[in-house]
Amino acid sequence: MELVHSGKIRDLYADGDDIIMVASDRISVFDQVLPTPIPDKGKLLTALSLWWFEQLADIVPHHVISATEVPAEWAGRALRCRRLEMVRVECIARGYLAGLGLREYQSTGTVSGVPLPPGLVEGSRLPEPIFTPTTKATGGDHDEFITYDDLVRQVGADLAAELRRLTLQIYRQGSEIAAERGIIIADTKLEFGLDRDGSLVLADEVLTPDSSRFWPADTWTPGGPQPSLDKQYVRDWARSTGWDMTPPAPPLPDDVVTATRNRYIEVYERLTGREWSPR
Ligand code: ATP
Ligand code: MG
Repeated sequence: MELVHSGKIRDLYADGDDIIMVASDRISVFDQVLPTPIPDKGKLLTALSLWWFEQLADIVPHHVISATEVPAEWAGRALRCRRLEMVRVECIARGYLAGLGLREYQSTGTVSGVPLPPGLVEGSRLPEPIFTPTTKATGGDHDEFITYDDLVRQVGADLAAELRRLTLQIYRQGSEIAAERGIIIADTKLEFGLDRDGSLVLADEVLTPDSSRFWPADTWTPGGPQPSLDKQYVRDWARSTGWDMTPPAPPLPDDVVTATRNRYIEVYERLTGREWSPR
């Protein structure tokens, strides 16, 4: 199969009109891949995304064709998908203040041009979920917030409106499902693509610990960093080593690998209600 794209985490192969999207066990923080893999991470992300695509299918069509019609060597970590023309924007929904959204709010009082009330703190719940798109940077650059007007200029008014509507609806429905399982989805990043006939399709991965912030609801206390079931643990660890965020990235010690893997498993099990058993 022809390798058409090798991303930080996933590799894409062309197979006729389809693509085979293979999730590796690589992990990245601050846009850099760490030298140490997290065993089973690719399978966990694939299984969780697949579960979410099914939960959200009433909102928007998704790109998955089959989880089983893939080469045997990649079973469990690969999905056969429709090959789409990707919309070159990261569609982010935020219901809580954290990460880059928090920093943007602290310096400007807005995120992606959306004004927020004064007095919010790290971990605050927003009055309502907001759509905060960013550029999709290539080659080691960082994504940057764009305003809704920027998005309209980039993709046109109709597509921009649809991206915002779907992103917020997916966030709301996903958050409701997660809340029933005691998990807050603080924010999440979605990617969409266009099908041959021009229809909008949900692509990439959905509501995973790589693309979202997951907080246990029972420990949520605004006013500081929140205990998390996502990649934040690894970001915090990477920072604690004094790493200056330039290559080479530091290798992960065994206990950090295990703790990270356990978080990915916990969030998979809590959200899906299934016990984790890799194929
Ligand atoms: P980059 O694209 O900059 O390499 P990344 O490191 O986030 O970003 P990965 O997430 O590892 O990349 O790889 C997934 C890639 O596949 C992304 O570029 C994503 O936009 C693309 N993609 C996801 N679904 C589809 C699809 N159905 N058709 C075509 N491309 C897709
Ligand atoms: Mg990606």
